[in-house]
Amino acid sequence: MSVIFSGIQPSGTLTLGNYLGALKHFVDLQEDNHCYFCIVDEHAITVPQDRLKLRDNIRSLAALYLAVGIDPSKSTLFIQSEVPAHTQLGWMLQCVSYIGELERMTQFKDKSQGGKEGVSSGLLTYPPLMASDILLYQTEVVPVGDDQKQHLELTRNLAERFNNKFNDIFTVPEVSIPKAGARIMSLQQPTNKMSKSDDNQKAFISMLDDEKTIRKKIKSAVTDSEGIVEYDPQNKPGISNLLTIYSVCSGRSIDELVEAYEGKGYGDFKTDAGEAVVGVLSPIQTRYYELLESEELDQILDQGAAQANRSAEKTLKKAKKAMGLGRVH
Ligand code: ATP
Ligand code: MG
Repeated sequence: MSVIFSGIQPSGTLTLGNYLGALKHFVDLQEDNHCYFCIVDEHAITVPQDRLKLRDNIRSLAALYLAVGIDPSKSTLFIQSEVPAHTQLGWMLQCVSYIGELERMTQFKDKSQGGKEGVSSGLLTYPPLMASDILLYQTEVVPVGDDQKQHLELTRNLAERFNNKFNDIFTVPEVSIPKAGARIMSLQQPTNKMSKSDDNQKAFISMLDDEKTIRKKIKSAVTDSEGIVEYDPQNKPGISNLLTIYSVCSGRSIDELVEAYEGKGYGDFKTDAGEAVVGVLSPIQTRYYELLESEELDQILDQGAAQANRSAEKTLKKAKKAMGLGRVH
């Protein structure tokens, strides 16, 4: 039994990448662990967001968590901005982190490519807030996709730095990255990761895309002109990505698939891969639309916020005391 924390940004509708790299594994984890699943809306505003769309995305993400099988009687599901301790500890950890180490984060470099003038400082200080999310719950394991590895390493460094400098308060968390599906790539630029905030709709499969759209997106996924189904991420990133997707969605190994499509070209392969994805996403979508209409959703989020606040406040109090903030009482 471990304490587990994971967050997802309500920055758009979740993609198949988010599902295979993160959500899918959460459902199994909640059986034997104490899990906190957080909708990290304060991270989403590091880039511009439309107010009404953000609100919709928050509720939608909550419904998706539940639709994939997160059970509120086993796990704590909550919204980050409803637990003030996150930004409070986030600030304290900002004061423990160095500008140099934050500027080295690849996500900051990627997302600030257009120049630093128009980029919010929140994009730079996002990792200490993420560290706060994790450390507030004395998290032992953080299950994330491969793209978050660097941020997790920073979280561990900040926890150790704080523990050494002030008082031994934080559990130093371990990162857990799934073996298969850890990095699903863009369907249009298979050397980049699939991302829900991609401007090109064809680059990702949204968890809420209808069947026809899913089939079409897989059909038009960028591959190569060889026509041989082979797993070779270096030289054949497009087809290798589809093999990963097909394999994880069907439960068949990559080797088995390669053998099954020998001499068959990409047409049949893409059709079947599309079917496998539809088979995984369509039952989730049915549950999602039921939940979105229900009153249950808000009750679950209220209860989640109350539980999360109780745990987070305990750690925050210790951290404030260790740093000398406020008064002793
Ligand atoms: P954004 O573009 O707004 O950053 P995102 O798709 O990267 O969106 P996040 O909210 O940053 O989504 O990440 C949510 C979870 O999904 C994290 O655990 C992350 O590691 C995982 N994840 C994100 N993209 C992928 C991907 N392409 N393959 C596998 N896992 C992924
Ligand atoms: Mg991301």
